[in-house]
Amino acid sequence: MVDLKSQYEKLRDEINTGIQEVIEAAAFINGPAVKHFQTDLEQYLGVKHVIPCANGTDALQVSMMALGLEPGDEVITVSFTFIATAEVIALLHLTPVLVDCDPRTFNIDPDAIRKAITPKTKAIVPVHLFGQCAPMEEILAIAEEYGLYVIEDACQAIGADYRFSDGRVKKAGTMSDVGCTSFFPSKNLGCYGDGGAIFTDNDELAALLTVVVNHGMTVRYYHDYIGVNSRLDSIQAAVLRAKLKHLDAYAAARREAADFYDREFAANPHLTTPLRAPFSSHVFHQYTLLTDGIDRAGLQQYLASKDIPAMIYYPVPLHLQKAYQDPRYSEGDFPVTEDLARRVISLPMHTELDEEQLKYITSSVLEFIHNEKA
Ligand SMILES: *Cc1c(COP(=O)(O)O)cnc(C)c1O
Repeated sequence: MVDLKSQYEKLRDEINTGIQEVIEAAAFINGPAVKHFQTDLEQYLGVKHVIPCANGTDALQVSMMALGLEPGDEVITVSFTFIATAEVIALLHLTPVLVDCDPRTFNIDPDAIRKAITPKTKAIVPVHLFGQCAPMEEILAIAEEYGLYVIEDACQAIGADYRFSDGRVKKAGTMSDVGCTSFFPSKNLGCYGDGGAIFTDNDELAALLTVVVNHGMTVRYYHDYIGVNSRLDSIQAAVLRAKLKHLDAYAAARREAADFYDREFAANPHLTTPLRAPFSSHVFHQYTLLTDGIDRAGLQQYLASKDIPAMIYYPVPLHLQKAYQDPRYSEGDFPVTEDLARRVISLPMHTELDEEQLKYITSSVLEFIHNEKA
């Protein structure tokens, strides 16, 4: 699905030098590389504070801790996402309230959010799924109306631009109280291990987030809060610093691959290509097709037989996951999410796809459909 080796070859010297510097300085934790990356990312995103941490899941958890969410508080999020979003809500003994998504953008449905609000609701967690922003303008308006926090899960959408109706443009993860991202290797800005970060414009919250990721420690060995140990290490920061300079070029390469896929699949009645919402750029963390009237598992197997990986993100919605069984939810509750789970398929998407590979992938997909329908 990704080709991190070819991507590395192009930045080999820069990345190796950065890693070497960390080792020579023996500044493995909280070294200058982390500080530099933090500043670079703040500038790139146009946000006041970036708080690096160990992974995207921690970023979500720490955000909820720092916002003071407490057991019994209801947190609204979407059923069609990666498990991490709901996992941290459950771990903190908050109450996850799941809602359905939009059938064309795959992102959380603002009308469904509105219907799910109760007096116990404290926060909304929109996920910018597959690289495109959720409809933040509507979500922020709902949050304002009801006095709710908004925590953006921007793990799949770093670098995506959101256009507000008044013309303002903001980066994914910087529009609300707090934004979270992941630097997992296969994410759009990936390191060579685990990493994550939290974004906020709020000075007080930033100070608290910085304390919570470091054992709740205000002064060394004085712990004013219960925190966690969640750090971005210096070697990962050096890798990320080198790659951040290329993030926009990476997004452009992904978009070009998506354009190619779109063109090849546009005329096929059994495939729906991903919608590009007018209010958000798409950084194509995934290129996800909707299949219609074809054997999806058969397609996946056929592609595998031709050495083309294809993945189902996500085969089981959160409300139907075994560990998250809940008397409040049952099959049929989120028809859009359940329909998508049965029909989506994601094709290889990364920065190194060339025309020959794209041709091979698209012709293999179309060949399968042609054979099935023949
Ligand atoms: C990857 C991802 C996470 C978690 O990030 P990790 O760094 O793997 O912990 C959370 N939410 C979404 C939507 C993701 O894609």
